[in-house]
Amino acid sequence: MVDHLPDERGYFGPFGGKYVPETLMPALQQLEQAYEEARQDESFRQELDYYLREYVGRPNPLYLAERFSRELGGGKVYLKREDLNHTGAHKINNTLGQVLLAVRMGKGRVIAETGAGQHGLATATAAAMFGLPCDVYMGEEDIRRQKPNVLKMQLLGTRVIPVSSGARTLKDATNEALRDWMASFENTHYVLGSVVGPHPFPVMVRDFQAIIGREARQQVLDKEGRLPDLLVACVGGGSNSIGLFHPFIQDKDVRMVGVEAGGRGMAHGEHAASLCLGKAGVLHGSRSYVLQDDDGQTSPVHSVSAGLDYPGVGPEHSYLKETGRVRYTAVSDEEALRAFTCLTETEGIIPALESAHAVAYLMQEANRPARDEVVIVCMSGRGDKDLWEVSRLLGLEI
Ligand SMILES: *Cc1c(COP(=O)(O)O)cnc(C)c1O
Repeated sequence: MVDHLPDERGYFGPFGGKYVPETLMPALQQLEQAYEEARQDESFRQELDYYLREYVGRPNPLYLAERFSRELGGGKVYLKREDLNHTGAHKINNTLGQVLLAVRMGKGRVIAETGAGQHGLATATAAAMFGLPCDVYMGEEDIRRQKPNVLKMQLLGTRVIPVSSGARTLKDATNEALRDWMASFENTHYVLGSVVGPHPFPVMVRDFQAIIGREARQQVLDKEGRLPDLLVACVGGGSNSIGLFHPFIQDKDVRMVGVEAGGRGMAHGEHAASLCLGKAGVLHGSRSYVLQDDDGQTSPVHSVSAGLDYPGVGPEHSYLKETGRVRYTAVSDEEALRAFTCLTETEGIIPALESAHAVAYLMQEANRPARDEVVIVCMSGRGDKDLWEVSRLLGLEI
């Protein structure tokens, strides 16, 4: 049904496309062609597989969370452990793929945008490993909130460029990175961090992240002898969720739920639930669901987790919402925080606040798994980066 998508113009139904200034078209066309060639090249596949295995540590486990499942009152909840990857999240699956592609294209430099710093860190890591200079655009407000990741990027040899426009967060950093790329694409690859942006980024990032679902599918078949009943993942831009969902899309009996950031409530500016509460529009080069006001101005967003704090979402998710194949919902900051604590205490696994949103969905009374249900939750990352924020919210002291 959706395996043939996007079409050759980069559309998933009415969503996607390339809404960019004319000057950026050659860069996108060049990338599209290079990616298409790389995708069909066995040696590219093998090289990427090598680094995913030897450097990232794949395959990571599909772990049966027994005590957490008992806490929920039934079902078998498996965690796909992206948190155990090198650099602590799923982001490295994509940045390794893109930096390898940049090397193949003969680009001498990479750039990226970052909000929480996770994508910046994963890009800086891959750039260090392949010996490429790297510049990362980051809003001044995010630099202030995410000091450990900024320090790590600097240690890795990356230049972190502060962005002082707008709200000084991710949306503004993305604008600056696109501006840089317009002037520099002859020798620079822009490593985009999620399944957003103009074609071919949404399909390329999806393909690099689909390793999550391919492994999980094989692992659950080995352990349970059958496919799961339900997949759950958090949705910021949508890369860890589409990575888990994609290899199961044709399996009609596998239900899928994407969980957005419900923040402090449904009011304007209090959440980041683009699919649940936004409407179709254009942001950062593609048509998708966007949080915007009546004049089409992009709305301010809020989430306790910096990685979900984005007013847009990938075009393929917009399509999967419209076709009804995936259900999208949101949980609040408070529910995510409760799930963070619960998983930590029952399993000894400290999740990223983003991943805690997926866990929180299962803790809602109406969504508790039935007795024999097999559920896979994407543990998109580990919670180290969130320790200060969580201890502040919980009032912890040393
Ligand atoms: C960046 C990030 C997310 C959100 O991004 P997606 O593209 O929606 O996956 C989720 N979890 C973690 C740990 C992240 O670092």
